[in-house]
Amino acid sequence: MNNQDLANLIFPNIDKDISYYEKLYPERDLKEGSVVSRFAPSPTGFVHMGSLFAAFLASKVAKDTNGIFYIRIEDTDQQRKVENGIENIIRDLTNFGIDIDEGVIGENKETGNYGPYVQSQRKEIYQCYVKDLIAKGLAYPCFCSAEDLDEIRQMQEVNKEEIGYYGSFAKCRHLSIEEQMRRIQNGEKYVIRLKSRGDITRRVKIKDLIKGELEFPENNLDIVIVKSDGLPTYHFAHAIDDHLMHTTHVVRGDEWVSSLPVHIELFNTLGFKLPKYAHLSPIMVQDGSSRRKLSKRKDAYAAISYYHELGIPNEVVQLYLMTIANSNFEAWYQSNPKGSIDNFKFDFKKVSTSGSLFDLDKLLNISKNYISYLSKEDLYSRLLAWSKEYDEEFYDLITKYKDATIAYLNIEREKKKPRKDYASLSEIKTGSWYMYDELFMKSDRVYELPSNISREEAINIIDLYMDKYYDYNDSQEEWFEKMKQLSESLNYATDMHSFKENPDKYKGSIADISNVIRVVFTTKTTTPNLYDILKILGSERMAKRIDLFKE
Ligand code: GLU
Repeated sequence: MNNQDLANLIFPNIDKDISYYEKLYPERDLKEGSVVSRFAPSPTGFVHMGSLFAAFLASKVAKDTNGIFYIRIEDTDQQRKVENGIENIIRDLTNFGIDIDEGVIGENKETGNYGPYVQSQRKEIYQCYVKDLIAKGLAYPCFCSAEDLDEIRQMQEVNKEEIGYYGSFAKCRHLSIEEQMRRIQNGEKYVIRLKSRGDITRRVKIKDLIKGELEFPENNLDIVIVKSDGLPTYHFAHAIDDHLMHTTHVVRGDEWVSSLPVHIELFNTLGFKLPKYAHLSPIMVQDGSSRRKLSKRKDAYAAISYYHELGIPNEVVQLYLMTIANSNFEAWYQSNPKGSIDNFKFDFKKVSTSGSLFDLDKLLNISKNYISYLSKEDLYSRLLAWSKEYDEEFYDLITKYKDATIAYLNIEREKKKPRKDYASLSEIKTGSWYMYDELFMKSDRVYELPSNISREEAINIIDLYMDKYYDYNDSQEEWFEKMKQLSESLNYATDMHSFKENPDKYKGSIADISNVIRVVFTTKTTTPNLYDILKILGSERMAKRIDLFKE
């Protein structure tokens, strides 16, 4: 009996050999230097900002080099699976604007020639490679029960030995092939372990693209590579996949750094070329006087859906993530405020090794800036798409009053220094509800008149304005001239300077006059440019609103 007999006994149905798969998944036809990167989540829920950060940078570096970014679903731990897990991940990535070149693109949907891209569908491939390792004497079945493993651990603790299944502690490593086969034939439960050739007194070095030179003791543990259900462990499966899918760069969280010795041994044992690694430190947040990791549970804004629900453009989150990823990005963005992130080349060397600090206010400022530079049509169509999903009432209104909405969105937009008042699409309704009669009628209409002006005086001002000074066709300059005339005729100072010099001489200033007009038509003391607001409302709606004010 030899190792090949053992391998045949364990995997009688695996009739292909590894050369079959090596041929099936040939080298990719890409230019020298093109990066093949991946995002390989386990379908355990939503995408968290930390994983999105990794996915975004992985996709960015592939895009920068005309490479491939693909999605692989790592679901070999079937117990951790949640319902709609894959759907949620793909939705979050798509909402965030990550372009998926290859791999899983939905529940039961994938694209590309290196699939299947869901690990639970690749069982035969993994088993073929394991069979090969067993035949070569590089892996073996282990029959130890949980109790056996416990006993080994206790013994190691007492003797202050390294904990784990290795060397002389690895009982099943030393069984004869005959015994292994007999126990399998007897129906005993077993897992498959790697027969490690590592030695912890030797060091292994690796260069991480972010963290630089890393050095560890070699792995010497006989790690489990196939569980008793026949599915591989993550460590084993990911090595096979990264090899067959020709991954050149692995970008992932640094919780995986401690697994590197195992991964390196697996790649070496399997005869695979090691990909380049880029391990990201966790994103941090300021919490009082200390810093802590961004938390899925504590920080609502750690979920990607948070931004989508608020209507923060995904380009904004991308811009923000790039500012925390590359220290030189902010300066680049300041000199290219309307520039696309596609024109910025991401560099692993400039990623912080201590963990980037996440600052929501900064993200919202970027959002204000970004939204202010969108064209009115672009902003309108984004608002339409967002409200369709999250605010049906507003969707109906902006559809019905399309032109008025676009005109409103355009106030102070096409200027050198545009108005920067919205950090999200959801704020647009809060800022503009008074432009829609339906919402105006429904509101409490609390008129915020200036404190020095009574209701009677306000009525007096508005009546005179409509009677003598209002003309729909006036230009902005003519309109302003008339505001001055109106102020003068009622003994309000026509400029702030004269008012401040001689406050007793006047009833108030031109600012009070325009505020009264603003309040009568909108109830509010601050709005975008009043001239434009009145132009959009038009005389008929203005007359109705005066009646409402007088009620
Ligand atoms: N499936 C692993 C995770 O969910 C991926 C680790 C890796 O990218 O290699 O974190």
